[in-house]
Formats: sequence, C-alpha cells, structure tokens
Amino acid sequence: VYSIGVDLGGTKICTGVLDEQGTLLHSLEIPTLAEGGPDAVIARIRQTIDEVLDRYAQDEIAGIGVGAPGPLNPHTGMVLGPPNLPGWDSIPLRDELRQMYSLPVYLENDANAAAVAEHRYGAGVGSRHMVYITVSTGIGGGVVIDGQVRQGAAGGFAEIGHTIVDPAGARCRCGNRGCLEAVASGTAIARMGSEVYQRPVTAEQVAEWAAAGDAKAQQVLDTAFRYLGIGLINVVNLFDPDLIVIGGGVARIGQPLFGALRQALRSNYFRKSYGMDVPIVPAQLGSKAGVIGAAALPLLARERA
Ligand SMILES: [Zn+2]
Repeated sequence: VYSIGVDLGGTKICTGVLDEQGTLLHSLEIPTLAEGGPDAVIARIRQTIDEVLDRYAQDEIAGIGVGAPGPLNPHTGMVLGPPNLPGWDSIPLRDELRQMYSLPVYLENDANAAAVAEHRYGAGVGSRHMVYITVSTGIGGGVVIDGQVRQGAAGGFAEIGHTIVDPAGARCRCGNRGCLEAVASGTAIARMGSEVYQRPVTAEQVAEWAAAGDAKAQQVLDTAFRYLGIGLINVVNLFDPDLIVIGGGVARIGQPLFGALRQALRSNYFRKSYGMDVPIVPAQLGSKAGVIGAAALPLLARERA
C-alpha cells in the first residue's frame, strides 16, 4: 500500500508517494502561486495529486496527507488564514480533497508533519519523547509524547515559535512581542544583521561572515542563539524530551548553533537535579521531511485503526 503526501508551502507545493517503509518513490514540485487565492491553489494541488495518482490503482492508496502552514485545525481540516497563503481564512481543504478523491484525507500543521517524518524515518527513530523544532524563515515545532505526535484542542499545540522569550523584544508577525520566531528565526537574523550593517543582508550572509571570523556577524548569531537556548530550556522544562531534533535552514549553521544550544541546556539549573543531558541532533530528512511526514499521516491512521 502507498500513500500520498502534499507539502503545501507559501512558495511551492511538493507532492509525493511514500511506501510503507518510508521511501519517497516519486515526488514533484510546482510553484504555489499563492497570490491566486485558495481556489487556484487547490486546483494546483489537485494537478500534482492527479499526476502521482496516475501510476497507481485507487485501492493501492491508503490516503492523502497534507501538511500546510498554520494556523489550521487538524480536527476539522480547516486552514485558518496562514500569513503566507493570502485569502485562506477558514478554507475546508481536507473536506474538499476528500470529495475530489473519495480517499481518507488528513490535514496537519507543516511542522507537525515534519516531526512525524523525523520520528518515523529520520533523526528521531527510537525516541519516545521527541521535540522537533524547525528554524527557518519562521520557527515551528512538533512534539512526540509516548511515540505519537500530539495535537491540542484547536490545532495550536507546540507552537514553540510563538512562545515569548523576550517581552520587550521585536514585534512578531502574529502581533505578540518577543516571540521566539521574532527574535531567533532566519528572518530575525537577517533583520538584526541589516541593522548592524546598515544595509539589507540575508541570514545566510550573516552565518557566512560569522564563520569567516566577522565579530559583528558573530554577535548577531550569538543573540539569536541565546534566544533559541532560552526557548529550548522552556521546551525541556515543559515536555521533558529524550531527544531534540533541529531542522530548517538555520540548522545548516551546524556546530556553532548546536554547541550554543547544548551549552544553554547545560545552564538550565532546574534540570541539574535530574542529572540528564538531553541530546540535540540535526534533522536528517532535509526539505523532504514535510512531504514524507504528510504522506505518513494516512499510514499512521491505518496503524491506529
Ligand atoms: Zn508570534
């Protein structure tokens, strides 16, 4: 049996077929063209599904899983107005796809989908209580407890990027001040870098210059890493994980980032009495984690049934 995954992002749609061993068999990517609005984007999603579905008989397909940017509600299957998908205010994406294909369809937050993928097939295999954090233009999270990626009441579970780590910090795109995402994401690194250099710079440039020994760039990274460390201390105190997996573009900074985060966790006085070092490791599935995790959703649902 096979399963179809759709990773819906603000800039691209990636759709693929997964087998039960977690191998991504075919995948294709097209631009989202999000400015076209929900109907046009759903038509493009459909185009990608039709293309991969064409190779299989209907009864070989366990279902369709969709990972989409939050806010969304996985229980109702509604997308609730993500900032990077204009016009998607209360769009019943799951039910529309169900009607089109007469297959089980599951909708999940993109970071949760990536957490499913890393837990089943990537860096988190064997972990019982895993926290996955993706640090890229935004910051997202997924939490595995007792081997299952958890959902909350409304779909806002483990929104680590919107936990507040500096009440006087920069305004977040959500409206709050000092969210982790607003002070430690790739976007935040680029913003802080642009302030320091008095011209527009990217997070990649800041990372590159810091690696080459530029002190100003290093200071920007240190600020972001310090906030990430605070976020991670909160995560460890809340969820008591046995493993933390970090993905997203900023994770490619590698050792300087992971070293700073390990250092931060060692400064968590509260945990000292537990005598435990929580391992922090890089994600393994890269940019395909979203589509793999989305495709895993129907397989998970079958296993539970
Ligand atoms: Zn926020």
